[in-house]
Amino acid sequence: KGLVLKVNNLRKYFPIKNSIPFKKTTQFVKAVDGVSFELYKGETLGIVGESGCGKSTVARLINQLITPTEGTVEFNGIDLASLSTKEIRSARKSIQMVFQNPYASLDPRKTIEYLIAEPLAIHGIGDEASRKQRVVDLLETVGLSAYHAKRHPHEFSGGQRQRINIARALALNPDIVVCDEPVSALDVSVQAQVINLLKDLQHEFGLTYIFISHDLNVVNYMCDRIAVMYLGKIVEIGSYEEIYDNPQHPYTQALLSAIPKENPFDTKDRIILTGDVPSPVNPPSGCAFHKRCRFATEKCSQMEPVLDTVSTTHQVSCHLFKSLQQKPLPS
Ligand code: SF4
Ligand code: MG
Repeated sequence: KGLVLKVNNLRKYFPIKNSIPFKKTTQFVKAVDGVSFELYKGETLGIVGESGCGKSTVARLINQLITPTEGTVEFNGIDLASLSTKEIRSARKSIQMVFQNPYASLDPRKTIEYLIAEPLAIHGIGDEASRKQRVVDLLETVGLSAYHAKRHPHEFSGGQRQRINIARALALNPDIVVCDEPVSALDVSVQAQVINLLKDLQHEFGLTYIFISHDLNVVNYMCDRIAVMYLGKIVEIGSYEEIYDNPQHPYTQALLSAIPKENPFDTKDRIILTGDVPSPVNPPSGCAFHKRCRFATEKCSQMEPVLDTVSTTHQVSCHLFKSLQQKPLPS
C-alpha cells in the first residue's frame, strides 16, 4: 500500500486574546500538540476523541485551511508548506473535505447545480455545459438525480444535504477526503445510509479517507485504522482489530466500554469517565489524562509518557503499558 499523506509532529497553538491592550499574549490554546501519523492509499483512518481534543484542527491543518505552528504535512512525499501558491491550489484539489454541518456549509441562496459546480468553476475546469453534465453525473453518483439540480438547499433533508456536500467534495476527483463528523448531525437511521454511500464511493473511486468522529460506534463501520486523540495528542493508534480487541490506553478502554453492547442493561463492564476534559490552555502535568485515569500513579502526574511500540502497527502512550512490559508475567 502506498503512502499518500504523512503528518510529522504537527502543532497548532492559538494565542489567547489578551484583555490588556497592546500587551503581548503569553497564553496559548495547544489545540494540536505534536501529532504524527501516516495515511495509506485506499484506507480509512479514523480519528476519535471527545470534543475539544483537536481532531477538527488536525483536519483543517491537513486541508491547508490553517497553517501549522510547527510540523509538516507531506502529500505524496512533498511538504505542502514548500509549495508555491499555484501548486497549493492544485494540491488542494486532491484533498477535499466534508464537514459536520450540512446546513451551514451550503449557501441557501444558491442552487444545487451552482453549489456542486462551484469547485470546478473556481479551478477553471470545463465550460458551463460540461460542468452542468458533471453535476448531473455527480448527483447520480451520490443517489440523487438531475431533477434536483435547480433546487435550493432548504428543499432537502439533512441526509440529502450531506449527499450534496459529498458530491461537491468529489467534483474535483480528489485522492483524499477528510470527513469531519460527517454523520453526527443526522438521525441514526440516516447515518447508516450516508456511511454506506461513503464506503461505496471509496471502492468506486479508490478514495482514501480520514474519518473524524467522537463516536466509536460510527468509526466501527468505517475504519481500517484508528487514532485516539486526547488533549491535542494521539494517545493510541493501531489497526481496527488492535484498537477494538486489544486496547492498551485506559482512555481508549473507557471509550470502548461506553459503546452499547447487545444488552443495553448490561453495564457491569462500563468504565465511567469522571471529570471534564481538562483545558488545553493549562494542560495537567505529566500524562494529560491522569486526573481522569483509574490507574494513575504518582509517576503519571510528573512524567509525560511517550508513544511506545505495542506492535509494528500499534502504538500507545501510557506508563502502564511500559511497566507491564518490564515486569515478567507470573508463571
Ligand atoms: Fe493513566 Fe498513567 Fe497511563 Fe496516563 S500514563 S493513561 S495516567 S496509567
Ligand atoms: Mg469538531
